[in-house]
Amino acid sequence: MTASSLGNAVRAELERLVATVAENRHPDLDGPIFQAPLVGFAAAGDPLFTAYREVIGPFHRTPGEWLPAAATVISWILPIAASTRDSNRLQREEPSRAWAITRTFGEACNNRLRAELCAWLQARGHAALAPVLHPQWSGVEVAESGLSSNWSERHAAYAAGLGTFSLNDGLITAAGMAHRCGSVITDLVLPAEPRPYAGVRDWCLFHARATCGACMRRCPVGAITAAGHDKHRCRDYTYGTLQPRLQESYGVAIAGCGLCQTGVPCEAGNPCK
Ligand code: SF4
Ligand code: SF4
Repeated sequence: MTASSLGNAVRAELERLVATVAENRHPDLDGPIFQAPLVGFAAAGDPLFTAYREVIGPFHRTPGEWLPAAATVISWILPIAASTRDSNRLQREEPSRAWAITRTFGEACNNRLRAELCAWLQARGHAALAPVLHPQWSGVEVAESGLSSNWSERHAAYAAGLGTFSLNDGLITAAGMAHRCGSVITDLVLPAEPRPYAGVRDWCLFHARATCGACMRRCPVGAITAAGHDKHRCRDYTYGTLQPRLQESYGVAIAGCGLCQTGVPCEAGNPCK
């Protein structure tokens, strides 16, 4: 098989998994948590992964440090279901119940995808590893910028050509910013196409065209300004104020917030397209 047809096979497998795994059912809705995925590939040797040591921190590992035979990083975007986005768009101070449930159960679905894709590749004789499922994956607290980790799914997605960063620290993709993302590293060589952008914030209207700023107005605690996203203020509100309140009323472990990801021009598409 050519690298191109192998890439199509990986895409098809991820699409099949998203459509069929039991974890992708929203407990409150007659439908899935996530819509069909976007899938991209980055070469494991892409110099970006070395540059991330500077951008994110020296603790961030390259693909080869996770998997010595690494050839490709497979990255995917899981767009949040339209009805969940619709409900969160109406909110002003706290997330909708559908959004909070997505936040609690969506990552279990994403973990299943990571594990299933690794198993699918391994069954075909390839090495595969999902950093986020690896025992050595860890969060890292950085004094100036807040919580980080030794493998960033969003930076992997950027490297794989799936989207660019935004004023509020999200990743704007062709399916917008309301999503979760995941990745697997493999020794399988897959086609890493040139990224369809040059700069790290090309798809954010504020940075590309000096307009918009809708996410600033959506944040109830002023955690987004022209200077960017104040992770500390965001986390204090999300985990310190909202979560204890909503854990009980919504019956969820993690409530999230996501107000700045909905009701904005980049919610479900690339606003610079
Ligand atoms: S709402 Fe506007 S300014 Fe904020 S991230 Fe989206 S495009 Fe950028
Ligand atoms: S997620 Fe954080 S930055 Fe976004 S609206 Fe909520 S508190 Fe503000």
